[in-house]
Amino acid sequence: MGFPLSDVLTDESIVSEFTCKICCNLVEYGHAVHTSCSHVFCEKCLADWVARSSDPDILAEAALNGEQARGPRCPTCNAGLAGEGKVAPLQTQPLAWRLLGRVQVRCPLHDSTSCGWRGDLSEVSAHLTNSESHLKGQDYAPSNAQENAEALKNQGNAKFTAHAYREAIQLYSKAISAAPGVASYYGNRAAAWLMVGAAKECATDCRRAIQLDSGYVKGYVRLAKALIELSDVDAAEESLRSASTRCPGKKEIEEELQRVRVLSAHLAEGERALSGGEPARALEMYAAALKMTQCAAVQLGCARAEIALGRCDGAMRTTAAVIRAEPGNVRAYAARGHALCLKLDFDQGMKHVREGLRLDPDHAECASLFRRMKRAGAALDRGRTAAGTRDFEAAAIAFTESLDAAQAPTHSPFTAAVLAQRANARLRLKEYDAALVDCAAAIASQEDHKPAYFTQSTALLHLGKPQEAADSLKVLLEMDPGDETVRCVSFLFSFSFYHPLNIRAIRLTSRVFCSSQAAPREGDVRGSKVKTSGLLRHPRHLARRVGARGEAGVQATVHGVAPRQARQLE
Ligand SMILES: [Zn+2]
Ligand SMILES: [Zn+2]
Ligand SMILES: [Zn+2]
Repeated sequence: MGFPLSDVLTDESIVSEFTCKICCNLVEYGHAVHTSCSHVFCEKCLADWVARSSDPDILAEAALNGEQARGPRCPTCNAGLAGEGKVAPLQTQPLAWRLLGRVQVRCPLHDSTSCGWRGDLSEVSAHLTNSESHLKGQDYAPSNAQENAEALKNQGNAKFTAHAYREAIQLYSKAISAAPGVASYYGNRAAAWLMVGAAKECATDCRRAIQLDSGYVKGYVRLAKALIELSDVDAAEESLRSASTRCPGKKEIEEELQRVRVLSAHLAEGERALSGGEPARALEMYAAALKMTQCAAVQLGCARAEIALGRCDGAMRTTAAVIRAEPGNVRAYAARGHALCLKLDFDQGMKHVREGLRLDPDHAECASLFRRMKRAGAALDRGRTAAGTRDFEAAAIAFTESLDAAQAPTHSPFTAAVLAQRANARLRLKEYDAALVDCAAAIASQEDHKPAYFTQSTALLHLGKPQEAADSLKVLLEMDPGDETVRCVSFLFSFSFYHPLNIRAIRLTSRVFCSSQAAPREGDVRGSKVKTSGLLRHPRHLARRVGARGEAGVQATVHGVAPRQARQLE
């Protein structure tokens, strides 16, 4: 790694500051770091060094010798390197960066190619990769082509080890143009393509390498890896199987084949579980597959399982990553659109599904999703409008239509929200039992769906069950003890204004909810009396009004009004 000191022409006293103490070369230009103790290293050298010093074996050995684990240290001065901001790219030190770039060097290929080039370190890469040098000109003799190519490949390998994959690709490309018939040049470039996430280019290079040398084992293994990254697991398995007959007894091929078979089994089981209504099992399988590859097919499997489990946020993150990497992935648009619709963002959701259909008008999954979500969204809008105009009968019918059209998973924000809205419509139609069924289903769908709890407790009050109504809100309050609205409403419900004042219930529930509250103040009582009588019939509205003053305010309100109410009821 780094640039060999033997090819450096600048005076050593200047260069020594830029010598990596780990590989004893001039630091890798463009991939150098400096430490907070002002020492300079190749990025890869220091990363390896840090990894070695946190190796559990070495730490265990240090512990045996009675030494304390001290974390990574600077190889030059032994200063600690653990913690934020201790190591930064050399580019963040512009002066040092400029000085390094101006170090005079000669062509690293001068031995093998008798190239006479001399220049700045910052120019070496351009010199090595430009189309002229080493391939044409006065120093070039065709008889040297093979030697040149080999030297270029070695430079490419050095860049590859230093994790400078783009430069490695350029150098391998040049080696290929110097000597086009060598399988390993294509094979090495394929490895570099894979590292920069260019799986298609990797596969093309692997195929060329195999064509040139049918016994090139690495070519088969890399081709399989590239095909997996391209989400074509079947093709990967197929190509490895044929490779295993062509090159029998090769351990690398057998191992890769084994790995691909495991992956393929995970995906098949995931798909089966997903269509068989076992999303948890499907997610387990896809998560196991995700440990083997991050390819789009596996990520989308995860997303679909998450959607089926009602975890739309997780699916949103996954699909966003896939779309970023593959802007033409129709299934990713379908999954993201689905997740958005289930989060009740129909505008954005339909936009994604439409984009999927634009990319592939014949995509069956997208087309069916589009039809379902369009009907579900329209019915939901109709239901909301009807509820707004107090036509609760029409609203309940529209909500049912929306639920039927969407075929949404049981656990999803959409299912919970529409069920809760239908419950509210049924409550207004005085169909209390039906409302309670919908509430229970909405809560089973999303256990923290607040409106369902409110509707449930109101329905229970109407059915003459104040204690159960208060209990229903208690569940909500346990989930979020800081929720002022719930506190207020549950406090009010405990007084059961809808029914003869139940003194026992008041004592019981007010002890539960209000034990820690301060005593009401006189001013609150008088101020609240005026507006409360009408609002008492709508405890949620009252809670909203007095919510700003907190529960003590509600207590004051109730204490101020309750005696009169009590008198009226007696
Ligand atoms: Zn180094
Ligand atoms: Zn140091
Ligand atoms: Zn040269």
